[in-house]
Amino acid sequence: MTLTAQVRSTPYDNSAQQVRIDLAAAYRLIHRLGLDDSIYTHISVRLPGRHDRFLINPYGMRFEEVTASNLVTVDLDGNVIDDPLGLGINPAGFTIHSAIHAARTDAMCVLHTHTVAGVTVSCQAEGLLPLNQWSMQFTDRLAYHDYEGIALDLDERQRLVADLGDKFVMILHNHGLLACGRSVGEAFKLMHNMERSCRAQLAIQASGVDVVRPSAAVARKTAGQYASGYDKVEINGQPDSEWSAFKRMLERSDPDFMN
Ligand SMILES: [Zn+2]
Repeated sequence: MTLTAQVRSTPYDNSAQQVRIDLAAAYRLIHRLGLDDSIYTHISVRLPGRHDRFLINPYGMRFEEVTASNLVTVDLDGNVIDDPLGLGINPAGFTIHSAIHAARTDAMCVLHTHTVAGVTVSCQAEGLLPLNQWSMQFTDRLAYHDYEGIALDLDERQRLVADLGDKFVMILHNHGLLACGRSVGEAFKLMHNMERSCRAQLAIQASGVDVVRPSAAVARKTAGQYASGYDKVEINGQPDSEWSAFKRMLERSDPDFMN
């Protein structure tokens, strides 16, 4: 029997099912874009109507194996509520994701990556530089958290959320990137833009040429424009065209993510 075949077919209500499909889509897309790290790093989402429960991937499965129905439900104390494959969860992933879900009611989704570009910029003393349109959107909207070792110490949770504050995106020094979203789509878009910002920064630095530096005022204006765009979807209910387009791409090539 395959792992997929063991997944039970418990029906979920519509909102929970949509969140499961969106979360599975995010896992598949992060893999498709080459932003995953073997079986490590995680994407989690709060269950609709439940502040204290969230969904995360089964530990040991690659991102392209995640489906809407094989996700693990855990509470904020790390108790596994529902685990269709019986694989459990990664303790380090629980530390980071539970900290943010507990402290930030507006963080529906938490997405964490270890990519070469993200890790490399996380090691740079100046952090992310507002040199292009992608990265300028994060002006005054980006937090930093110092590395403390693999995140197995639950005590780190309070420092993690204190450093995050009210921001949605954070660079984990010497470690990687983290994005929160009021929806799965928002967290994915923020991470996609952070990743491209980091890649562009490394390319600029590698080129060794003089750089045109936008003013701080222009960088802040750009950040405000991006924030307005995100708010139109998350607050005003405008359809999320970009997220929908990414999901259509998956529906054509990997429709089993919805299973
Ligand atoms: Zn990590």
